[in-house]
Amino acid sequence: MTRAQRECASRPLELLSRTTGIVTAAINFASMAAILLTLDVPLLAAMVVICLPMLVVQMIYGAKTYTLEYGRTDTRRMIEILGGMQIDRKILPQIISFGLSDYLFGRWLGSAESFVQQDVRLHRNRTAAETLSSVLVTISTVGVTAYVVYLNFSRGLALTVGGVMMYVTAFGGGLGAWQGAMRSVTGIYEGSLFLLDLVAFHKLRPVQTLHRGGRSTPEAIHEIRFENVGFRYPNSAAWALRGVDLTFRHGQSTLLVGPNGAGKTTLTKLLIRLYDPTEGRILLDGVDLREFDLTSLRRRIGVVFQDFLCLPFTAQENIGCGDVRNMQDQARVREAARRAGAQEMIERLPAGFDTVLNRMFKDGQELSYGQWQRVCIARSFMKQAPVCVLDEPTASLDVEAEAALLREINRMSLASMCILISHRALRPGIADRIVVMSQGRIVESGDYTGLIARGGEFARLARLYQSAEAIQPESGFVESQATAIMSDDEAVGTRVGAAP
Ligand code: ADP
Repeated sequence: MTRAQRECASRPLELLSRTTGIVTAAINFASMAAILLTLDVPLLAAMVVICLPMLVVQMIYGAKTYTLEYGRTDTRRMIEILGGMQIDRKILPQIISFGLSDYLFGRWLGSAESFVQQDVRLHRNRTAAETLSSVLVTISTVGVTAYVVYLNFSRGLALTVGGVMMYVTAFGGGLGAWQGAMRSVTGIYEGSLFLLDLVAFHKLRPVQTLHRGGRSTPEAIHEIRFENVGFRYPNSAAWALRGVDLTFRHGQSTLLVGPNGAGKTTLTKLLIRLYDPTEGRILLDGVDLREFDLTSLRRRIGVVFQDFLCLPFTAQENIGCGDVRNMQDQARVREAARRAGAQEMIERLPAGFDTVLNRMFKDGQELSYGQWQRVCIARSFMKQAPVCVLDEPTASLDVEAEAALLREINRMSLASMCILISHRALRPGIADRIVVMSQGRIVESGDYTGLIARGGEFARLARLYQSAEAIQPESGFVESQATAIMSDDEAVGTRVGAAP
């Protein structure tokens, strides 16, 4: 994709201009050839043959340029990433605090230097080879002058100096045109090598079967069932999920817990069909997810990922993106913001909901991570989807905002299917059901009380969460976060509207 992206802007235009170059060269060549034919046919053949070394040189170096570019895709990527990091305001504080500026600059310089050295070497060799072939052309022009003079005498043509020069100039002109045509041909060859990457990129098939125009996903979803689902990421031998049997139901909230790498996020990726299961199947009200039209499926599932998407748009657009068709519906955007606890914060911005959330733009404002998280949660609320997936939705929130959000999620889950992934807030009432995952498998499930009574993995995690042990390395938890919300907030632990 990197190669295709890099070449797609310039190469097609280059091919076009090269093609028109061939036409112009052909016209020039034809007129010069017509003059030479009045004198001698072998002269014309010589003109064609003399250019062949140049053609070969250009073909060879065209292919070498492509091979070089192909082989250093990773180096180019590294240069771009490292270069970008050094001007990224979000990353700079970390670079400075770790004292990494010189190291990163050194890494960047190392990659950039090897890049330039390869370019210099290639261009030096190419120039040398091209110069050699041009010398051949120049020598041939001298030879042609001598040959025309020889013809003049041997055939008794009685040409004047001007007459000889006319043929020599026609030869030079024809040669130039022929060289131009050759250059265009080799340019097209080189350009088409690069365009092959673009073609190959377009031919890449998605890792899943896309059913556009398949079944429309129903507005009300009663059940999503994972049946013996196993999944391996493309090009990975390890199973990220294996033997997962799990049913999510309308009106029920489920909390997925487990150490990093347990497969929680992967499970949600399968749910919105970023990937399809390697084995087993996922059924939505009894129908395989693959049967549904992808757009309508994703419209029905609101997801907030851990790496939330911060768009350089206004707050209104950032939230409205959750449902592009209703993006301009101010009341709906404000309601989504209110539910995510973002409304007051946005209204305090200089232009309120019309403030651009990026300081790189005029009058733009920067938000904190916690504020961004609320905006992104509001975006998912905007969708009003029957299924809602929140991956660590409270990770960047302060205690108060977290409590309010969990209340909202509790309220929302009564009318939808809510899937929550969290290391935090492992306390009674957080969800109707808790599913504990480890190494891609479900190891426990049940309600909070049952799992605590069982004394298994969840009980251990909850104990860690609720005690100072959470800061010990073997916990496998995000220790600093786990201690941050130790105080018991009654409101958070109680499901609004649920039976006491
Ligand atoms: P969790 O959300 O529980 O922390 P994940 O679902 O992100 O765990 O990861 C499960 C496993 O899948 C891990 O072993 C992880 O390394 C692997 N994994 C996650 N994303 C990818 C990916 N894009 N490509 C390959 N492997 C991945």
